[in-house]
Amino acid sequence: MSPPKIKISPLATPACETEATAALRRPVSSLWGVGSERAAQLARLELFTVGDLLLHRPRRYEDRRHFLAIKELQLGVAATTRGKIVALGLKRYRGGQKSVFEIILDDGTTRLHCRWWNLPFMEKYFAVGDDVFVFGKPISLKPRTIDHPETEVMEGGEDSSIHINCIAPIYPLTEGLPQRWLRSLIWRTLAKYEANIVEPWTELNVAAAFKLRGQTQPEGCGYDAQPTRAKAIHMLHFPQELNDTEVARRRLALDEFIELQLAIQTRRKNLQANARGLPCGGDNRLIKPFLKQLGFGLTTAQTKVLRELRKDMSAGVQPMRRLLQGDVGSGKTVVAACCALMALESGFNVALMAPTEILAEQHYQNFRRWFEPLGVRVELQTGNKKTSNIQSDGTHHASRITLHASLLIGTHALIESGFSIDNLGLVIIDEQHKFGVTQREQLVRKGRYPHLLVMTATPIPRTLGLTLYGDLDVSVIDELPPGRGRIKTFVRAADKLPKVWAFIREKLGEGRQAYVVYPRVEDTGRLGVKAVTLELEKLQKELSPYPVGMVHGRLKVQEKERVMADFRADKIKVLLATSVIEVGVDVSNATVMLIESAEQFGLAQLHQLRGRIGRGAHDSYCILVAAAKTDDAKERLRVLEETIDGFQIAEEDLKLRGPGELLGQQQSGLPRFRFGDLAGDRELIERARNLVAEHLNRSKKFG
Ligand code: ADP
Ligand code: MG
Repeated sequence: MSPPKIKISPLATPACETEATAALRRPVSSLWGVGSERAAQLARLELFTVGDLLLHRPRRYEDRRHFLAIKELQLGVAATTRGKIVALGLKRYRGGQKSVFEIILDDGTTRLHCRWWNLPFMEKYFAVGDDVFVFGKPISLKPRTIDHPETEVMEGGEDSSIHINCIAPIYPLTEGLPQRWLRSLIWRTLAKYEANIVEPWTELNVAAAFKLRGQTQPEGCGYDAQPTRAKAIHMLHFPQELNDTEVARRRLALDEFIELQLAIQTRRKNLQANARGLPCGGDNRLIKPFLKQLGFGLTTAQTKVLRELRKDMSAGVQPMRRLLQGDVGSGKTVVAACCALMALESGFNVALMAPTEILAEQHYQNFRRWFEPLGVRVELQTGNKKTSNIQSDGTHHASRITLHASLLIGTHALIESGFSIDNLGLVIIDEQHKFGVTQREQLVRKGRYPHLLVMTATPIPRTLGLTLYGDLDVSVIDELPPGRGRIKTFVRAADKLPKVWAFIREKLGEGRQAYVVYPRVEDTGRLGVKAVTLELEKLQKELSPYPVGMVHGRLKVQEKERVMADFRADKIKVLLATSVIEVGVDVSNATVMLIESAEQFGLAQLHQLRGRIGRGAHDSYCILVAAAKTDDAKERLRVLEETIDGFQIAEEDLKLRGPGELLGQQQSGLPRFRFGDLAGDRELIERARNLVAEHLNRSKKFG
């Protein structure tokens, strides 16, 4: 189940569709010089309309005003140069199976050899006497040689000023499509259609907020002097200065962010247009005894957050829509429990959705222990398991909870169609990043605008949070409960494993438990299962006589639960796991975690895994074993040695790997930005968000 992609329309939103913008939807084949063959090539680049073409983003730029003489080229340094072809030839060898094509350029300073291996057709593109621009890295200076350079043959002609003596855009291409031809096409198209590019957000006061400038060039890339959209698109393709390209990118990114924020915030507004929040503030009748038997006091951060939640849930304006962020172990579950009790005190049912069966089961155990003494029923509904009290209403497909004021815990099964929950006051979603936006909405739709609390332990960098959860208010638990042992993290090369095993045995001897995580082993497919099983045998030998158990994604649910129960009960001392263990599992006596081939995980995911330890009073140890040859990876892992601040780690991960990797593009529901950069454009995202919020507020008042 993948969430709906929020589509970014390239140049216009329906709201400001005019004759001018409609022209940008003409097919590329309507352009002079674009026949069916060229149109097919452009289609391979997903360029179907005039508008698409105008937003084709150059891959890089080449400053052809200041290129190097061939003599000035340096070994191993990528550079642009230019010369005339004085000789060329194709050599075949190995009975014609292999080939090398070579051209020799001269620019008056010296000669340059350019070679292409096994691309005999390159011969077609060059002739002696051609004037060629070359971009590449010399691999030798005697003679000067570049293998597989990017080249462009200069031709005379009227539009040559866009190819030379300027900053030339270098576009992504497809086979058979010449760089120079595409550049000319974009130049001509821009000349013809630039006037059709209108400001898309006239109703949003973008102009006032950013002092748009059409004629004069904005100085620097300050936020307060953005070019108009038309000017930005011009600068994107044909910048006067290299700096212009960044100014242009930011303006176009801003438009993307505004469009996304409009989609997100309008959705929220529509969802709540006529909704009044159900009165779920409670009367403390259940919370008081609950807190008393907990055995610890809430942290300041937990208390603060609870106050925010209570305010949202009290009878009032709109249903709560809140994201609760808190690092692993910060105590979100207890907060969620209090929140559930408020709704229960008020006479409403509560649903809690967890991403995995293990986690649903664990919540079920905890909440039963907490809530049943208070007279609250707790039910479990997963794909594999239903607690007996759930009654069917007799119709063919639907099952219906008719119990009074109970807590229903489950997995995806909760959102299956035909399943409904009476009198639903509050929906809690744990570990939200595992669910898509659609699923969130589906569960909310089970009731009549119930309150929504979304919890995530993945510290989401602020930019992503604003983008992904733009429709949610945010509360943060920014403090860990006191009395936790420290977590020490070590990065080790694989050849240190014997020492690591000795250390783990020592800790087991002291009565602690350990996790061993194997990312290397995919927990899917028959081969994967076999590999985990082999690892299990090895581990049992390594750590005997301590009992070792194993969980992975392919195990039957009952089997998984049995192993987890044994681990919780300290009957199993070591748990071999694939990354299914990642979320939420809470066994405080487990203080050692060994992660093998750690370099294969993202930092944020490793941080999540590490969150399984350090939950009790004993000091904990996380050992990240990286394959010996991966020095870069080892450096990257050092971040985890240095900090346990999940937000810092997430920012680092976002920079290193991008949002798709961090969240799983598939699950995240994030659109693909052409210009926006989630890792770097935080300020732009915030401004877009505010502009849209102000706009929607205004239109609420007046419309
Ligand atoms: P997470 O935020 O990762 O979901 P949990 O809610 O699972 O964290 O809490 C982690 C552990 O800390 C649990 O064993 C929980 O009982 C305990 N805990 C929660 N709040 C406090 C507190 N204020 N003081 C002491 N321990 C707490
Ligand atoms: Mg949790």
